[in-house]
Amino acid sequence: MLPNDTLDQWDRAHFFHPSTHTAQFARGEMPNRIVTGGKGCYIQDRDGNKLLDAFAGLYCVNVGYGRPEIAEAIAKQAAELAYYHAYVGHGTEAAITLAKMIIERAPKNMSRVYFGLSGSDANETNIKLIWYYNNVLGQPKRKKIISRWRGYHGSGLMTGSLTGLELFHKKFDLPLAQVIHTEAPYYYRRQDAAMSEADFSNYCAEQLEKLIQAEGADTIAAFIGEPVLGTGGIVPPPQGYWSAIQAVLKKYDILLVADEVVTGFGRLGSMFGSDHYGMEPDIITIAKGLTSAYAPLSGSIVSERVWKVLERGNDEFGPLGHGWTYSAHPLCAAAGIANLKLIDDLGLVRNAKETGAYFVKKMKEALADHPIVGEVRGEGMLCAVEFVEDKKARRFFDPGKKVGPQIAAALLKQNVIGRAMPQGDILGFAPPLCLSKEEADLIVKATVKATEEVKAALR
Ligand code: PMP
Repeated sequence: MLPNDTLDQWDRAHFFHPSTHTAQFARGEMPNRIVTGGKGCYIQDRDGNKLLDAFAGLYCVNVGYGRPEIAEAIAKQAAELAYYHAYVGHGTEAAITLAKMIIERAPKNMSRVYFGLSGSDANETNIKLIWYYNNVLGQPKRKKIISRWRGYHGSGLMTGSLTGLELFHKKFDLPLAQVIHTEAPYYYRRQDAAMSEADFSNYCAEQLEKLIQAEGADTIAAFIGEPVLGTGGIVPPPQGYWSAIQAVLKKYDILLVADEVVTGFGRLGSMFGSDHYGMEPDIITIAKGLTSAYAPLSGSIVSERVWKVLERGNDEFGPLGHGWTYSAHPLCAAAGIANLKLIDDLGLVRNAKETGAYFVKKMKEALADHPIVGEVRGEGMLCAVEFVEDKKARRFFDPGKKVGPQIAAALLKQNVIGRAMPQGDILGFAPPLCLSKEEADLIVKATVKATEEVKAALR
């Protein structure tokens, strides 16, 4: 093993970290953490710390760390056949089997799975398929994609544009022109005294309809949304939101993409968020929970409706000119199969529902009345605590005070990992789906202590 200071020096000199203040990092002004192991809901670092990972990496290690079943499946596949491509009708038993397992679990009317490596590339695929679809249908003007402010759909050119967070656009010349954003379904932030949750959902649908009319319905191809807003703040939709939105989309014949990169495979306590909220998407994006991040794998699940048009297009224009070298990589597919089996065998969807509900309830009991907590919210194994300067007036802290990041740091000092969400003082939790009630209690207790500490220092 390399000595810690050598590794630290190499890290700061050569490793370009994503989503990092890279200048501060290179200058040694922020700490690094070199992670060496993990078991269940815990990770371990080189300094010997054992941390309770209440964000499951980046809400992706759904079955928890250190599962030998998945490691063995990958090793077995690597020994047999580490790689073959999936172009021009080639494939592997692992990839074919996994596609079938996904369709068996997916909402109704889903037809085929196109495999990628990341949530971002899966959403890039989705947009290309949607453009192709409209060209085949002879409606080439229909190309704009509507996303929501605070939505997160990736970091690519198109997907970074779909992402509705300022940080992901600033100085990158994004969003691209084909992307437009609409109201975020964020009741807590937009609520006025007169508006019920259901009214707010209708208001969001009205805003969407106004945008469609202003742009021209014949220019809009699709609407993309996460069943629960994730990186934008972990915000479950207000009551009636998805039915109100879907009514507008149906009226104007606009496709719906459900981005289930976070919600797919059990996080909400249902196999898919679409089923959880009665969504009827035309395409579903999956990644993260598909392999619990034991190997990078994503997918675009295409409905029968879209598939039929793609087939027509191929017959007319030739083969689909879209592919990644690593599409349906057999090592990743083997990880996916073992992972989906574990989710079933361990009853993790049920645990996400039951222990998730317990976790959110305990967090609410502990913090909902706290003077600097505006809202505690959650669904399944997702939870968020939003901090405010003035609870009654719902006045938010000056972002410069970095209250959310300070509370996340105070939590980390107790060896519990939560995530300061990128926009607003919001502490997010998305633990592995195997979380126990005792671990949930630990997270709640540590969060209360962290909140108290930072509140005391604010005065
Ligand atoms: N969609 C959603 C809903 C996500 O949360 C993420 C990642 N956090 C992505 C897409 C992008 O996935 P990736 O980082 O694997 O490209």
